[in-house]
Amino acid sequence: MIRHECGYEEPAYCKKCGRPLEYTERRGIYCPNCGHRVTILCPHCGKRW
Ligand SMILES: [Zn+2]
Ligand SMILES: [Zn+2]
Repeated sequence: MIRHECGYEEPAYCKKCGRPLEYTERRGIYCPNCGHRVTILCPHCGKRW
């Protein structure tokens, strides 16, 4: 599960390796396994995740 700053949570998986993604404010959404980074908009508040 990744959790946005607005409180919204959703399960997200890496498209490259299938591992669960993680989120930190510094790095954004990234895969701890292969290092792939993802930028999406939060479907709850509409801001950049
Ligand atoms: Zn990955
Ligand atoms: Zn949000």
